[in-house]
Amino acid sequence: MTNLATRLARPEVLALPPVDIVPVEEVFGADTIKLDANENPFAPLLEGSLSAGINRYPEPQPARLKRMMAALYGVSPEQLIITRGGDDGIDLLVRTFCRPGIDAISVCSPTFSVYEHAARLQGARVLDVPLSADFDLDVDAFLAAVREEASLKLAFLCSPNNPTGNPLPREDVLRIADALTDTIVLLDEAYLEFSELESLAAEAVKRDNLVILRTLSKAYGLAGARIGALVGNRELIALVTRVLPAYPLPTLSIAAAETSLAPARRPLHEERIRKLKADRDRMAGLLEASPIVRKVRNGGGNFLFLEVDEPDALARKLQALGIRVRFRANAAPGGLRLTIGTDRENKAALSAFGVAIPDEGRRRAELVRDTKETRIAVAVDLDSEGQRRIETGIPFYDHMLDQVAAHGGFSLTLMCEGDLEIDAHHSIEDCAIAFGGALSKALGDRRGIGRFGFSLPMDEAEAHVLIDLSGRPHSVFEGDFKASHIGAYPTEMTEHVFTSIATSLGAAIHVRVAGDNDHHKTEACFKAFGRALRQGVVRDASGVLPSTKGVL
Ligand SMILES: *Cc1c(COP(=O)(O)O)cnc(C)c1O
Repeated sequence: MTNLATRLARPEVLALPPVDIVPVEEVFGADTIKLDANENPFAPLLEGSLSAGINRYPEPQPARLKRMMAALYGVSPEQLIITRGGDDGIDLLVRTFCRPGIDAISVCSPTFSVYEHAARLQGARVLDVPLSADFDLDVDAFLAAVREEASLKLAFLCSPNNPTGNPLPREDVLRIADALTDTIVLLDEAYLEFSELESLAAEAVKRDNLVILRTLSKAYGLAGARIGALVGNRELIALVTRVLPAYPLPTLSIAAAETSLAPARRPLHEERIRKLKADRDRMAGLLEASPIVRKVRNGGGNFLFLEVDEPDALARKLQALGIRVRFRANAAPGGLRLTIGTDRENKAALSAFGVAIPDEGRRRAELVRDTKETRIAVAVDLDSEGQRRIETGIPFYDHMLDQVAAHGGFSLTLMCEGDLEIDAHHSIEDCAIAFGGALSKALGDRRGIGRFGFSLPMDEAEAHVLIDLSGRPHSVFEGDFKASHIGAYPTEMTEHVFTSIATSLGAAIHVRVAGDNDHHKTEACFKAFGRALRQGVVRDASGVLPSTKGVL
């Protein structure tokens, strides 16, 4: 039986030869002499990593990135095509299936404008079945409206919907796909990561008429790299692949996406998404109190949909303040979409909407540190407690850093991929450097913080830690250890860790430890350090710098 996609595809597409996307590396080795593509043999005159490999054409569908994205979305590589952003995926689908002047697509307005744009460009008709007054999709009404349309090739559904945020329940999507047996249903999941919805990718690969759109632009912060994907059954994906230009994906974008999607970076992305969702929910509540906002819709995206009374006056005000939002009068009178930004940006936006919030910007910072020996990403949030995930590759060290955050009363995500096959030294030291650097960043101008110390007994052992978050690095360590290792953790590294943190944090750290048991002694140092940090980073209400010089 012919697959539905093949039956629906434009004859011009079927006439194109199938594209064989066997990864080059599987055919030729890495040191192949490449005299086939009229490339320039010299690297471009750019610095360092920017120039690596860009005198060569990229793989049309880079195998490694494809495996990573397939894993991310829970499908196999043949069930996914990497596109230049989700927008390109929409365009490819329309060009694969819609014959100019004959075929049609459906959209449910108000929704993402690219569906209609791509269709018009291709000469396809656009059937609009508007959403309800509350921006929900009435499935029965939708099916009744499209039933008469004989050549409906593509039905575009967006969940959470842009710009309104409304989620479309899974059952509704499947009901539509079940009913429209001669139409490809595209479910746009560009904002899925910010919602409580589950992806329908697993359904799409089993069905012949459901395709999922994903993108790295929103949840992974890669809008400028232009990387997205379509997920569907193999035949459909293979057909769409025929429509691709020869080398669609820039090498720099491929590298950015691969680096960003490394498994060790995942927990940081998750932490960011949690924060953006929490900020969105908090902003939604605060905007309810705005004197100019009539309605706040908090769907599942990284944005809110607002309806305001006087959009023109607001537009002028926002322009004067240098704040851009997207007005969407076609969606609702006075409608606008407000993206969730950083604490500072959100505060500025709230203030423009007449909502003043106390200056309580969260002291949260991220730091990425990649070298030949280690690749580290760390996020600290000094004003939120309880989120801790630490994977350095050295379990005892994870436990120690966890103690620092737990006793310090802050959230810490720290992931390291290091050269543990050599030994633990680089990973331990570099994690300490990155951790201290992130703490320093989170502390900002260090306004309203103190200088403190803590002593802690642990059975027979005791540790004393004094810290001064002075901006000036200095470290003192007194104590020694009998054992060379605790698990894979060399005891000699403890002194090193505190020296590294002192340097990158810009702090004086004095540690004195005594006792018999090395495990107790080490743990006591880290716990006491966490306790001293807790006192040191606590915000005092005055916001005054704890130094007579006025600067730390
Ligand atoms: C942002 C967005 C996309 C895709 O964006 P790209 O940057 O092209 O990946 C797709 N659909 C919707 C609804 C969007 O808002």
